[in-house]
Amino acid sequence: APAETPRIVIDAHGLPYLDPKLPVRQRVKDLLSRMSLEEKAGQMTQAERNALTSQGDIAAYGLGSLLSGGGSVPTPNTPETWARMVDAFQLRARATRFQIPLVYGVDAVHGHNNVVGSTIMPHNIGLGASRDPRLAGKTGAVTASEVRATGVPWDFAPCLCVSRDERWGRAYESFGEDPALVTAMETVIQGMQGAPSGKDLDRRDKVLTTAKHFVGDGGTEFGSSTTGSYTIDQGVTKVTREELERIHLAPFQEAVDRGVGTVMPSFSSLDILGDGQAPLKMHADGAMIDGVLKDRMGFEGFVISDWQAIDQIPGDYPSDVRTSVNAGVDMIMVPTAYATFHTTLVDEVKAGRISRARIDDAVSRILTAKFRLGLFEKPYADRSNLDRIGSAGHRAVAREAAAKSQVLLKNDGGVLPLKPSQKVYVAGSNADDLGNQTGGWTITWQGSSGRNTQGTTILEGMRKAQSRAGGAAITYSEDASAPTDGYDAGVVVVGETPYAEGVGDVGNGHDLRLSEADQAAVDRVCGAMKCAVLIVSGRPQILGDRLGDIDALVASWLPGTEGDGVADVLYGKRAFTGQLPVTWPRSEAQLPINVGDAAYDPQYPYGWGLTTSTRAPRADGATRAPRADGAERLKELAAEAEAARKEGRADVAKGRAIVTAARLVVQDRVGQKITPAVAKPFAEADHLLLGGDAAGAVRKLTEAYRAAG
Ligand code: BGC
Repeated sequence: APAETPRIVIDAHGLPYLDPKLPVRQRVKDLLSRMSLEEKAGQMTQAERNALTSQGDIAAYGLGSLLSGGGSVPTPNTPETWARMVDAFQLRARATRFQIPLVYGVDAVHGHNNVVGSTIMPHNIGLGASRDPRLAGKTGAVTASEVRATGVPWDFAPCLCVSRDERWGRAYESFGEDPALVTAMETVIQGMQGAPSGKDLDRRDKVLTTAKHFVGDGGTEFGSSTTGSYTIDQGVTKVTREELERIHLAPFQEAVDRGVGTVMPSFSSLDILGDGQAPLKMHADGAMIDGVLKDRMGFEGFVISDWQAIDQIPGDYPSDVRTSVNAGVDMIMVPTAYATFHTTLVDEVKAGRISRARIDDAVSRILTAKFRLGLFEKPYADRSNLDRIGSAGHRAVAREAAAKSQVLLKNDGGVLPLKPSQKVYVAGSNADDLGNQTGGWTITWQGSSGRNTQGTTILEGMRKAQSRAGGAAITYSEDASAPTDGYDAGVVVVGETPYAEGVGDVGNGHDLRLSEADQAAVDRVCGAMKCAVLIVSGRPQILGDRLGDIDALVASWLPGTEGDGVADVLYGKRAFTGQLPVTWPRSEAQLPINVGDAAYDPQYPYGWGLTTSTRAPRADGATRAPRADGAERLKELAAEAEAARKEGRADVAKGRAIVTAARLVVQDRVGQKITPAVAKPFAEADHLLLGGDAAGAVRKLTEAYRAAG
């Protein structure tokens, strides 16, 4: 342990910083003025709970934070043991002369996903599909409430990545390819943190959030990384300055405006085209972190590094430490060699290579968060809140989110919604697999197949829906073996197996095609009966010619623990309302493919999504013959949108309703004949709507309608 670290616990009672009635700024100033360099360096150090050589190191180094990396869980993995574990660490941190609490952090990226029994939301890609910012806010509130109940005040979420290439293994963590969509879904920050001022952070149902990964994580070029299997995950983002601002930086300005508590830099490097400079690792990029994020955007929270990310900066370890801290990183997720980091940081300051002012700035930011979180007053979990975890109310929110995230891409012959009276044959690898449907960051880091936690599979949800309505029994076969004829409909649920990082990259057995077994299941069922295919995956899967044999196609994404939500739309309890958050490609050769590309010829454009009506299911489905009055209807809608614009009415719901009506007219007309002339304006419409231009969106949709001929 470092020599200057005080070992004696004194009663800090009575010092000004302990007075909750004083303004936070004053408390920070008072505490900072009393701290040694070693104590300050400790605050900037985050260790992994499993890496602690002894729990005594928490006090010995005055660690500012601990984290549970993905899958780093207590045994048994229950809400109670979580609360007990975090409290025990906290007790150690309090046994220091200033009793500074830890700020414990976890990746609760779709619910409190490390904890068995928690409510697991759809991954972000599904929330983006819902196009429902209010719902995103509600999922954030549920997550925060479950996380804080276990004594954890900090969540490394949301990911504000704008996924530009679905070969990226973390595309599922993105709300979508359009920065306007990502920005719209940032209501999740308010749901988790409360008011932008930070005044709600001390509530027992709020947590500090993290906007990650700053900046350009979703824009890495395929094949640009040499870091092990992370061939795109941690690669290089090559963009013009204009693209950087418009696509990748814009969502971070929104996060700053919403008062996001912390920001995590990206593992990737940034290569700004035309600036004459070599690509730079984000953790070394002072122009971006200090210059853009803190100075220009006005970010006042603290910057937390990603996992061991400073080690990837070229140079020796002392250079990694000073380069990242001088670039504006305030706390380092070391997370194992915390002793070495602590010593190195202190040495670099003593040698004058990091200024004391920089250290004070970093520590002030960290302490500000701790005071705002109310951790000095209430450092421990309120165990009476533990029964919130996985509660019926929380699961109802996740169920709604699962339902609204479903995107109906094709519905020939009106296969969907199913009727309870129908005899249904269910098949496929993802029909009855909770692990596959929850995806990565669920109980373990990379996730796992099988029954990983409490929840309802899609098959179970369907069975419940059928039996509630007194309908026929469902026949299920995982591998779709021998579907005897006589069924009214087949539902094949296939797609990906879980991954969180790195392994999602193409080339590791995770390309964008279905596995052979999945393909065979689709072929067998769709060859024998009317069929609906559900793709449970973190990103689009390329179906090629197979699409012709599929009657109904649903992008289910990774819907989470509530398979009931998927069943709700399959059986028409709710209508399908989701829209594609990313472009669905025809072939791998098209990748990357995004709205705004000069050549845009997708299988399904960004924003595509058919609907079904709950009250009166149409016998002929969503692709019935084009309405003769389609052009007329579009004219009316354009007039309505124009009128609203002239009145200066910023009625978002109204604008959305008008554009949705127009979109449905166009989809009816287009059917499955999606040509580039249709796809381009169609995809642009959703972007305009998100930007508040409903009239512009209707104009684009009219263009698409005309192109459909
Ligand atoms: C991921 C981050 C995550 C961190 C902590 C890293 O590997 O890139 O998104 O927050 O681990 O678990």
